Amino acid sequence: MTNFKVGIIGAGPSGLAMLRAFESEQKKGNPIPEIKCYEKQDNWGGMWNYTWRTGVGKYGEPIHGSMYKYLWSNGPKECLEFADYTFMEHFKQPISSYPPREVLFDYIEGRIKQSNARDYIKFNTVARWVDYLEDKKQFRVIFDDLVENVTFEEHFDYLVVGTGHFSTPNMPYFKGIENFPGVIMHAHDFRGADQFIDKDILLIGSSYSAEDIGVQCFKHGSKSITISYRTNPIGVKWPAGIEEKPLVSHFKGNTAFFKDGSSKEFDAVVLCTGYQHKFPFLPDNLRLKTKNCLYPDNLYKGIVYNENERLIFLGMQDQYYTFNMFDTQAWFARDYMLGRIDIPKKAERNIDIEKWIEKEAATKTGYDHVDFQTDYIKELISLTDYPSFDLDKVADMFKSWLNDKEENILKYRDKVYTSVMTGVTAEEHHTPWMKELDDSLERYLDEVVADEVELSKTNYY
Ligand code: FAD
Ligand code: NAP
Ligand code: MG
Repeated sequence: MTNFKVGIIGAGPSGLAMLRAFESEQKKGNPIPEIKCYEKQDNWGGMWNYTWRTGVGKYGEPIHGSMYKYLWSNGPKECLEFADYTFMEHFKQPISSYPPREVLFDYIEGRIKQSNARDYIKFNTVARWVDYLEDKKQFRVIFDDLVENVTFEEHFDYLVVGTGHFSTPNMPYFKGIENFPGVIMHAHDFRGADQFIDKDILLIGSSYSAEDIGVQCFKHGSKSITISYRTNPIGVKWPAGIEEKPLVSHFKGNTAFFKDGSSKEFDAVVLCTGYQHKFPFLPDNLRLKTKNCLYPDNLYKGIVYNENERLIFLGMQDQYYTFNMFDTQAWFARDYMLGRIDIPKKAERNIDIEKWIEKEAATKTGYDHVDFQTDYIKELISLTDYPSFDLDKVADMFKSWLNDKEENILKYRDKVYTSVMTGVTAEEHHTPWMKELDDSLERYLDEVVADEVELSKTNYY
């Protein structure tokens, strides 16, 4: 059956994967349903569509983007590679394993530009509210066209939510912070280390944002970086200039006091305290409610909302794998909507969900997390015709990456990995990451002659 209508909210990597999945079906000559995708920004790419803005955008909507200038991939690109569109196919030459944002944006765009997907997307359009009409078995979605300033509604038989979950900050309170005289921001609003040169910076949180913003500030010349953890320190070998401390207990003026009794004065505080899964357009009975984890509750196969099986969520898990995981989810969602995959009744789905949740609860180490997500993707890939690839090898690369970071947090991005899709080994970037202050696509693809690279002795390795 293809005489039905699918609505997709968001044109980031997840929403685009959904469009690509249907397109690949269409290319085989098979009929596909009517599809419409709505994106509140003026372009696709989601997080990878960089914005200098913070707070609200041109039309007063909350800014989605959390990425910053000088953001480079924090995992090997060989772990996120699309199985149906390789880096070699896109760049026609080997590139390094850790490209900057603009290069990854170019890659994402390269695949989707091969199709007429843009015709399906209505940009500058925000989903405001969703109702499920029981009698019609349809979703009624209310949108605002931000440019025309008009409100309209559309009905869909299936609704795919691909709005991401690293956009709405989690903003904890610390006693006395309201009187802190310097800059206070959440990682969501961080747009680059420039303003923190020569400053003493406090980062609260101990996950990827704290790690990378800390390293970025170090690279670009902050005076000192202090990372304050709640549960566990990041625990890598830090260079002189970066240190970890237990959680802040309170602030007095520009001084932060830590739970170990120590204190220090700071110029700025960046809350790297994670994000909320936030769906202001979904009513209570359709809203996914979860913290950031590898297997959110209520999602069958991590995708189909258990309370309403016509509602689909993509990319809602914490992410080791990214682009290729979204693909495997989108291929599953496509085949499910096309009626090729039968799903069991709710109670049975619950048992399956429970099984995965228990499995996640038993994980302890980074390696366990990688293995968990690898198993999850293996299962999805076995159910569709998404091109299979050597997931065990990808899992090994993730584990090496974890080790590389422990070994040298400033140099891990200089390592190279081999694609399981093409067998091509990455090229070393022309400039060591710590010395590369220009993250543009142009500079990245430039063949820099040796004497152009500043070869002065460095003391941070
Ligand atoms: P998003 O990319 O967040 O896209 C969601 C889209 O939905 C956005 O375009 C948004 O505008 C739109 N949207 C939201 N609400 C609405 C609405 N109501 N109506 C219409 N449209 C809406 N992953 C990696 O693989 N490597 C990295 O190095 C990496 N670095 C990261 C750095 C940062 C700072 C962050 C926050 C994330 C990073 N990620 C990285 C993970 C990143 O989340 C994924 O790579 C990917 O962008 C997720 O895709 P998505 O489509 O699920 O969500
Ligand atoms: P995250 O992984 O969800 O981590 C949230 C952190 O906040 C945890 O360390 C958590 O500590 C801490 N936290 C939460 N509430 C707190 C509180 N009340 N007090 C103190 N600490 C608190 O979020 P993230 O680090 O922002 O990463 C989000 C995504 O962005 C990831 O996918 C990451 O890969 C991506 N990212 C990538 C780059 C890059 O370089 N490419 C850079 C930044 C981010 P507990 O352990 O105690 O819960
Ligand atoms: Mg298969």
